[in-house]
Amino acid sequence: MLQPPHQPLQVAAVPPQRAPAREDEAGPWHAEAVCRRDEAGLFFAPSKEPTAARLAREEAAKRVCARCPVMVECREHALLQPEPYGVWGGLTAAERRVVLARRRRREVELRKAAATERIAQAG
Ligand code: SF4
Repeated sequence: MLQPPHQPLQVAAVPPQRAPAREDEAGPWHAEAVCRRDEAGLFFAPSKEPTAARLAREEAAKRVCARCPVMVECREHALLQPEPYGVWGGLTAAERRVVLARRRRREVELRKAAATERIAQAG
């Protein structure tokens, strides 16, 4: 599991199970990340963060992501890993879970449709 590009700037907020950042695993998008240069402290929740503060921080992080040239790559990385914490590619962890659930439902629907098509063609 990778740390996001912004992670080295805020080690204290990192959940302990996350591995150190590895450039070779991150891919070329990692070097172009806006959050790599600045914006530390926005992407991961400090412990016991009040809800209003969390929502404000996440919105601020999303604004940074919105101007990031590698947002799509970052988002896909976080969805494919999947990354369980923080804002990645403009999505919170909860939003990524929703996207992943939709993708799984869509895959099931496509498999069912393909099976139905094969049965129709065979019969
Ligand atoms: S999309 Fe957001 S979290 Fe991802 S690299 Fe860019 S600024 Fe960082």
